[in-house]
Amino acid sequence: MSFSEHSTSSLVEIFSAIQGEGLNVGTRQIFIRFGGCDLRCHFCDSAHTWTPKSSCRIEQSPGSREFCQQPNPVTMPQILQWLSWQDQPGVHDSISLTGGEPLLQATFLSHLLPQIRQQTSLPIYLETGGHHPKALGQVLPSLDSVGMDLKLPSVSGETYWEDHRRSLDLCHQAQVEVFCKLIISKGTTWEDLMTAAQLVATINPHIPLFLQPVTPLTPQHSVQPPAPEQVLTWQTDLKQICPHIRVVPQTHKALGQL
Ligand code: SF4
Repeated sequence: MSFSEHSTSSLVEIFSAIQGEGLNVGTRQIFIRFGGCDLRCHFCDSAHTWTPKSSCRIEQSPGSREFCQQPNPVTMPQILQWLSWQDQPGVHDSISLTGGEPLLQATFLSHLLPQIRQQTSLPIYLETGGHHPKALGQVLPSLDSVGMDLKLPSVSGETYWEDHRRSLDLCHQAQVEVFCKLIISKGTTWEDLMTAAQLVATINPHIPLFLQPVTPLTPQHSVQPPAPEQVLTWQTDLKQICPHIRVVPQTHKALGQL
């Protein structure tokens, strides 16, 4: 009995959509969304991923939005089969591993990803909070790029500076493409932004850094985006440390995408 055939994973969904954030914005990706997250960010729009569910949903063909329900947990052969439903020639730019926090299932991923590599030539991109460097090291050999959501204490309520530094350094040493994203809100502090930018620049000032104004969960929600003038000031200040800084909101929400 091999690990690859019989180990299981908590899955939320597999579907095809336009990437709305960060360096890959506007590209078409196959999203594999894993269940489980050990953080509880105040702005989280994926709270349904936090705890394992008894079923997951699989889109039947790219962009059809016709889903079938499948029981959790799922096996690697199942994921590979559902991936093949999506992976039609000339449709996608890459595969996005997202969550939740995919690195909570790093051992499973370390076996799954080499099989995905054998099955498709699509690049593999990981979205992570960047707070599990040891787990990242397990899967890094199978990744083409990483998007890291650095957690600003003033926005997310979490503090992981040293884990972020180690995670970024691992990507840099492995020469895996990496970018960082900071969710910014009215409550963001200048000190947190400077700490994050200096951390990135210490590894490599040319790592792209994205400021993403938070999308409020509701009009009354306590976490609201910063004023436009404030965003301009922050970008100017941070550009002195990280020259490749861009401000990009969640475009998939404006497009009505998943
Ligand atoms: S890390 Fe991502 S999925 Fe987890 S709570 Fe934060 S925003 Fe939500």
